[in-house]
Amino acid sequence: MNKTLRTPVIAGNWKMNNTPDETAALIAALTPLVANAESTVVIAVPFVDIAAALQATLGSNIAVAAQNVHWETNGAFTGEVSAQMLKAIGVPYVVIGHSERRQYFGETDVTVQKRVRAALNAGLQVILCVGEVLGERKGGITAQIVRAQTEIALAGVTAEELKSVIIAYEPVWAIGTGETATPEQANEVCAILRDLLARLYGKDAADRAVIQYGGSMNDQNAAELLAQPDVDGGLIGGASLVAEKFAVIVNAAG
Ligand code: PEP
Repeated sequence: MNKTLRTPVIAGNWKMNNTPDETAALIAALTPLVANAESTVVIAVPFVDIAAALQATLGSNIAVAAQNVHWETNGAFTGEVSAQMLKAIGVPYVVIGHSERRQYFGETDVTVQKRVRAALNAGLQVILCVGEVLGERKGGITAQIVRAQTEIALAGVTAEELKSVIIAYEPVWAIGTGETATPEQANEVCAILRDLLARLYGKDAADRAVIQYGGSMNDQNAAELLAQPDVDGGLIGGASLVAEKFAVIVNAAG
């Protein structure tokens, strides 16, 4: 497995945190701390903060992501935002299928698939989240679950389009709990996903695919997780809200 084929992506998921003014301030604090990063740096902000984030990141190496997207272009879908809208204002990335969307907002593998399709059609880059819940891990079906989630989400995605997809392996039991997967557990599942991509798209595409780990990654444990051969970065929630902590994670990748 050749890790040098991939540039790590460190993405912060701010979840439902920060006003536009707080967004500008946090980005101002973060920008100098990550200016020499060897990884790609992304922050996924609430919809109302996107304009402020785009403005505040101008001229920096920090890219902006939305945290969700609807699959239709426009229409009677109150409260939703389309991929075309995100593209129109210059948002390059979107997070799709986060476990909080699956847990609290009825997201299913099928709706994830529709959102992935819409995002790719609009030319967005996707951070696709997959991961098992605790009962599934205890039941020994982690591999089965993450393979199924990934295969359904990627149905119809071509090898060319896969270049615009980052997969985030996020065990649900590790998100926001302070309980991190061990580096071995994280790597094992990232490797399972890479094997799946090899089966679906060929070894070269799989070797080039970025597969992140997410789940209570922080400034203390990031280096060991990111050093794993199949872990190409992280999706970070809580620790991405503190510039100094997020910067340590960013600078641990490379
Ligand atoms: C996340 O929101 O994707 C996440 C991994 O959160 P945390 O780092 O807080 O566990």
